[in-house]
Amino acid sequence: MSDKKVALITGGTRGIGKAIAKIFSQKGYNLVLNYVSENTDINKLEKEIKNDNEILFVRANVSKYSEAEELVKKAIEKFGKIDVLVNNAGITRDNLIMRMKEEDFDSVINTNLKGTFNVTKNVIPYMMKKREGRIVNISSVVGVSGNAGQCNYAASKAGIIGFSKSIAKELASRNILCNCIAPGFIGTDMTDVLSDEVKNNINNQIPLKRMGSPEEIAKSVYFLGGEDNTYITGQVLNVDGGMLM
Ligand code: NAP
Repeated sequence: MSDKKVALITGGTRGIGKAIAKIFSQKGYNLVLNYVSENTDINKLEKEIKNDNEILFVRANVSKYSEAEELVKKAIEKFGKIDVLVNNAGITRDNLIMRMKEEDFDSVINTNLKGTFNVTKNVIPYMMKKREGRIVNISSVVGVSGNAGQCNYAASKAGIIGFSKSIAKELASRNILCNCIAPGFIGTDMTDVLSDEVKNNINNQIPLKRMGSPEEIAKSVYFLGGEDNTYITGQVLNVDGGMLM
């Protein structure tokens, strides 16, 4: 088995997750890239992301415990270890609470928050055995500030922060560091659905007056999840152009 470090990234095939995959790939990590959509073009993605490393693509719905378990099992069968876990997979189902359906609340909590638990729970035993690991969970500034029309999403992202701080405390003695990145407004498929008017309004509220790029988030994930981070744990880093101060 290769002695390269291994990073498992959920939702690693689009947007922020793909940018995170690229940076870990450039730094020489072997990758386990998870996704859920049936029509994902793995060959194209492999050409785009791969360097002098190996990539295992695994289709799994992280909101289902058994699929998260299978995802980690396949990663271990292929690479024998997981050094870095990035819980990035996430969805939105926005609406005001007056109009929000129960299934929209449940699907966002189950994917974003429960999905983070499902994958982390299965990865932890392998990190504990090695007495080393890095976990970076992708929260959001709205998990800290709240946002009208996103009570499900904001609750899931606030939950991720509480979850991360708790396991950072539980696992510090095993040299497993767990932190959150809280992105602001980032240009991906998730934000592409917004009208130009909404995008302009949001941009005007950002001190840097623009949305961030997936690459700007990926650099901060590498900062917390890479080998150089040896003493930061239980923290939330806002990467948001100054949106939340
Ligand atoms: P995106 O472009 O919509 O990509 C979402 C990724 O998550 C895709 O790879 C998708 O896989 C995967 N995914 C969704 N549901 C999944 C499931 N049940 N199981 C496994 N994978 C699943 O989103 P993004 O903007 O890059 O967002 C990435 C993360 O950053 C999310 O957690 C999001 O909440 C957070 N975030 C984004 C922004 C922003 O402005 N964009 C701001 C703050 C936080 P498929 O490709 O297979 O569908």
